[in-house]
This record gives sequence, structure tokens and C-alpha cells, in this order.
Amino acid sequence: MTNPKLSDIAGIINKKYPFSLAEDWDNVGLQLGDPTTEIRRIMVALDPLPQVIASAINNNCDLLITHHPLIFSPLRQITSSTSAGSSILKAAQSNLALLAMHTNYDIAQDGLNDLLAKHIALGQTRPLKITGRDELTKLVVFVPQEQLEKVRTALLPHAASIGNYQDCSFSTAGEGTFLPLAGAQPAIGTIGKREKVEEQRLELLVRREQLAKAIRILLAVHPYEEPAFDCYPLLNETPPKGLGRIGSLPEPVRLADWVADLAETLKCTSVRFVGDPAGMIQKIALCSGSGASLLRDAVRAGADLLLTGDIKYHEAREAEAQGIALVDAGHFGTEILMVAAIRDFLGNSLNNAGYAAEILTADCEQDPFITITRHDNR
Ligand SMILES: [Zn+2]
Repeated sequence: MTNPKLSDIAGIINKKYPFSLAEDWDNVGLQLGDPTTEIRRIMVALDPLPQVIASAINNNCDLLITHHPLIFSPLRQITSSTSAGSSILKAAQSNLALLAMHTNYDIAQDGLNDLLAKHIALGQTRPLKITGRDELTKLVVFVPQEQLEKVRTALLPHAASIGNYQDCSFSTAGEGTFLPLAGAQPAIGTIGKREKVEEQRLELLVRREQLAKAIRILLAVHPYEEPAFDCYPLLNETPPKGLGRIGSLPEPVRLADWVADLAETLKCTSVRFVGDPAGMIQKIALCSGSGASLLRDAVRAGADLLLTGDIKYHEAREAEAQGIALVDAGHFGTEILMVAAIRDFLGNSLNNAGYAAEILTADCEQDPFITITRHDNR
């Protein structure tokens, strides 16, 4: 097994958690590094903290993958006088590449919000706030029989998955004809003579934003001077994409009991909640990290409860007024589970693609908040 290049890893992540899904204000994908570098060791962490960067360097990692991006707002200079600048300098000096998978990972299917939903046994989940749907194109290309597998292999990494199936394509045999005119440089045939060639019609689904790249690759690998290809916009309805999730527990549960179980499940140091402790809940909305802005979406969707982090006082008061329970399990508490999940996803994906790389998880990350609890007088 060979070591993957940095671009191979970015490609594997982009296929499952497309960077194009990220919110406009976000900055995801490769942040630092040479895409042609061979990667032998990877570290996964929630935050690009100085101690995480140091740990990745000390462990001879070539790549650090984090949820929160180190390079976020535009930088005017990279110097050791700021924490971000110092970390970027150290990473660059140690050939440590940086890659962020943030809101693309939050929004994507099987990303952080689906992971959180799975941890709390939510069924029949769907996005809480729909932000769009994939637009699909059918890309059809006519290829001489002998070159079919070469072209298919080059295009498949850019094909859209169908549900839980990837690498989907279809081919059928036929005959192509052409007559090279003066000035042509035909790969097959001669100028002024009509040719008949055994060809294959190769077709695959491509997400709209991947189409230009797929066509560039098609033109690069196809043997013909002028490959014939068609792009058909499709009306197939694709699953909605969006922020947060909403779903149902198998049966109604007392709010206080559910929150106590949640603290155990997420191993949170503290969980705060708004609502009647004895009230029954079943329909649950959630958003990892900071999702209090989705409170109205949760109310509109008929949720009994919104689980998120970073809840402010007036948001808690708004939940009281709206009669919806609001649970704050912390930004860290609702997101740290991404580390093990990304380690497992990358491990399996690299292995399936025939690549070898060691994957570590940062063991120096902790919730920055320390909670002191006194007697609860409610
Ligand atoms: Zn976050």
C-alpha cells in the first residue's frame, strides 16, 4: 500500500463531505500545504489549538485535520505576534499541512449533526433548516471500446453517489461515425475518409458544481482530439440539505431524565436546560456547536426540544416564552464526537482506496469551561 498525497485525502473528504456545502461565511478545505506532499501520519482534532499543533508536530504528523478552521477571517500578516500567526508559522516550518472540515461536515449527510442524532437515538431525522438540494447532471461521453476503463476510472471519483452507493456508472456498446476534415489530427482514421468505430456510451451522474472539473478531466484523458459528450440537467429530486436535524425518540421521555442520560452519553461536564423537568418530550431538534438561532425553526417544526450549545440568557427566555425546551450541552460537548468519527471514516476510506496512513487523535483537547455546581434549589 502506498501513502496518499495530500490531494488524495482532500479528494476523499470532498467526495463524502463536499466543501461546497459549507456556509458562505466559512473557510473549509485545505488551508496550508502542498497538495502533492505524501502523507504518512494524520492527526484529527476539534480545534487547531497551539497545543494541538505542537502535538501534531511532536508526533511527526504531515497533516492536521480540524473542525474549526485556523485560518478564518482574512489575515493581513502571518507573524508570531498573534496566536493564529504563530501556529501557521510553526506548522509551515514543520511541513504540517492544515485542513478544515467545518460547516460542510455539519451539513453533509452522515456528518456531525447526523452523528449527534445517532448518539441520542433519534429516528426519522431530516434537516431542521433546509438550505438547498443537489442539482444533478447526467454526463454522457462516447469512448472507443479499448479506452472505456481508462476514461471511467478517471471520471468515477467525480461522480455523484446514489444513496449509499458510490462509483455508479453505466455503459453500452454502439457504433460511432466521423469524417475528419482538413486541419484535424484524428487519433483514429484519416482526413477525408469516413470512419466507423466501435464505441461505448459511458454515462454517470455528476453534481452540478463538479461538472466543470469532470469535463476538464474527461478532455484530458479521452483519446480523441474532439471528444463527443453531452450534459443533461436532471429533474430528479435529491434529498434536502441543511442545518441541524429533527427527529423522534422511540417513545416519550421525561425531560429531566433525558437530559441526565444526554450528559452521560456525551460525557459532558455540564448540561443546562430550560423547560419543565417533569414535562414529556419526544420530537427533538438539534444543532451541534452554536445553534440557538434555529430556535424558531425548531418551534415551527413542532419540536418539543432543541439541543445545542452556546445558549445565551435571552435565547433561554425566548424558549420559555415559546414553550419549547432548550438544552445547552456546550459547544465542545456537542462537537468533540467528530474526532473519533473522522478518524474512523478516514481510516476506512484510505484502506478501501488502497492507501496507508496512520491516523492519531489529539489527546490534549478539553472543554475550556470549568463548571462549579452548588445545590440546585429548583
Ligand atoms: Zn463549532
